[in-house]
Amino acid sequence: MKQQILEIIFDRFDQWSTRFSFACNKGCGVCCTTDVFITAPEGDLILDHIVSTHTTQWLKEKLDFPLHRRPLFQTTNGYAKDCLEGRDSQYEDIRRGGICPFLEDECCSIYPARPFSCRCFASTACCRNGGSALLPPEYLSAATAVSQIIEHVGQFGLWGTLIDVLTQQAVAAEFCSGSRFDDNFAVARENCLMAKPLAGFLIEDEHYEKVTGLVEDILSARLSGRSIEDILNNR
Ligand code: SF4
Ligand code: SF4
Repeated sequence: MKQQILEIIFDRFDQWSTRFSFACNKGCGVCCTTDVFITAPEGDLILDHIVSTHTTQWLKEKLDFPLHRRPLFQTTNGYAKDCLEGRDSQYEDIRRGGICPFLEDECCSIYPARPFSCRCFASTACCRNGGSALLPPEYLSAATAVSQIIEHVGQFGLWGTLIDVLTQQAVAAEFCSGSRFDDNFAVARENCLMAKPLAGFLIEDEHYEKVTGLVEDILSARLSGRSIEDILNNR
């Protein structure tokens, strides 16, 4: 069910974002680093893809490198809750990690199952040769709001970098084993946080109308006869 919800969310965001023109092209993957945050349902989507493509050995080779301790401060929903309740908080900055192990020949080797952080990362000006990605502010607000919904979908599960979450899931599923993975599992467990429920959105006033249109579109989408909003609220 969670994976079907994710697919609806990805689809609605894709439709909404067609109003923007981006410079990103296939084969342009400078932005593909290990600093991609995901939730457990997104990791499950990747593992399902791995199983369906019979590539568990390939996954093991991709994850076979030492992980470093890098505890995270706060999830997106945790940060939003702190802000909405007037507490100081620290949001995870994007620190340039190494190249994502799933980048092959400048293309994503898990493209159909890539997480939302990868789907929404884009730039209106080519940043392949350096510089920062440029994103319209309302797009950033919308991507943050959608990330918050996705974290809500995965609440009480893992939240962390793609590699930290996937390592734990792959070891738990017995796709990866051995001393390297025992060590990596322990590091990944320390690095990850628990996904939190949605306490409220972080949407700038000037983007409110456009972003809430997208949020309403997602929450009113229907799955098995119920709206996503009802499913998320256990109604
Ligand atoms: S964000 Fe920049 S580096 Fe990444 S695909 Fe787009 S243009 Fe290329
Ligand atoms: S999962 Fe794919 S899209 Fe995401 S960072 Fe890795 S190679 Fe890039």
